[in-house]
Amino acid sequence: MNNKLITVTSPLLPNLDEFHEMLQQIWDSKWITNMGQFHKQLEKELADYLKVPYVSLFTNGTLPLLTALQAMRITGEVITTPYSFVATTHSIWWNGCKPVFVDIDPKTGNLDPEKIEAAITPKTTAIMPVHCYGKPCDVRRIKEIADRYGLKVIYDAAHAFALEIPKNEADYNVAFNEANNCFSQNAPTKHVEVETESILNWGDMSTLSFHATKVYNTIEGGAMIMHDEATKRRIDDLKNFGIHDDVTVIGPGINSKVDEMRSAYGILNLRQVDAAIAERQKVAKVYREALRPVDGITFFDDMSGVKHNYSYFPIFIDSEKFGMTRDELFFKMKADNVLARRYFYPLISEFSSYRGLESADPKNLPNAHKMADSVLCLPMHHQLSEADLNRILSYIVK
Ligand SMILES: *Cc1c(COP(=O)(O)O)cnc(C)c1O
Repeated sequence: MNNKLITVTSPLLPNLDEFHEMLQQIWDSKWITNMGQFHKQLEKELADYLKVPYVSLFTNGTLPLLTALQAMRITGEVITTPYSFVATTHSIWWNGCKPVFVDIDPKTGNLDPEKIEAAITPKTTAIMPVHCYGKPCDVRRIKEIADRYGLKVIYDAAHAFALEIPKNEADYNVAFNEANNCFSQNAPTKHVEVETESILNWGDMSTLSFHATKVYNTIEGGAMIMHDEATKRRIDDLKNFGIHDDVTVIGPGINSKVDEMRSAYGILNLRQVDAAIAERQKVAKVYREALRPVDGITFFDDMSGVKHNYSYFPIFIDSEKFGMTRDELFFKMKADNVLARRYFYPLISEFSSYRGLESADPKNLPNAHKMADSVLCLPMHHQLSEADLNRILSYIVK
């Protein structure tokens, strides 16, 4: 029995010789941090690659969330999803605000726009949705609601690197109406060519994570995306202790400056991220073809006109139909060194810091609970072999 460890993810690593050459340049210059040449170059290259006007690098994906709320002086209550990584809600807590959990749409895993309005109170100042698994939130609907109530929108786009959605409204509506069919074993969505734009253009700000486990990584790292130069300057100050110039500190900023080593690493990884996404797309295709006929297993298909990044491959298990619970499958695979992940389980609203909140009541979040109890993220990265995929699938396809 082949018992080689299969991990749920594997980091995209730059070529070591090329990295060494860049390290030599850093050593020669003796400029190792504080917005050096490679830092500037990576910000510029990322803005071009992501098709956004401004990028500010951060040392991880959590600090830009904290800083976005601070920069916009968000107070009171912030509406958010319980179906995410804890950092989303932690950033609200760190700003002294109260997180208000709203349930997800069971067909997308994202904050349900229909339910946001009912959670708005006079204290609400912002909405923090997550493009969960790189599946786009209904950004147009969320913007309508935010504009009507004068709320800010900060997207935790940690999963949304390179994610693009149809630019014009008609194509967008087609994608999002069909999206209701994605969470099923229906025939796959037809591929259509439409003009797309970065999902990061939506909301007042979006944040990215470049952690080792993500599609694109700088070991630890992250970024904030903003739409105007004044905000870019303000954010650049706030990630550097609030220091504006020799004699001016604009506020109690944090230290989240990315060093030259990680910037160089990021420049190299950006050159190979498209190839890595293409490999992930192949993995998704293999999974979908194999799993489509399996009773009791559902998964997301691509949305028409959307450019996906294949960052995760969650499956959802109906234990009655499948004949095994999610946990039974998870532990069976784990015992054989095949590491899937129960992501996101437990819900953020179940952790001790948050479960006392009124909005954390499971009765308020039935869809999120159902998804958290049935989800299993299968191994997904750019280096899974056919043999690996066959071995993973052998636990699910009978
Ligand atoms: C990874 C992740 C973060 C945090 O990013 P770090 O770079 O690990 O700080 C935040 N939100 C979501 C949804 C994530 O998946």
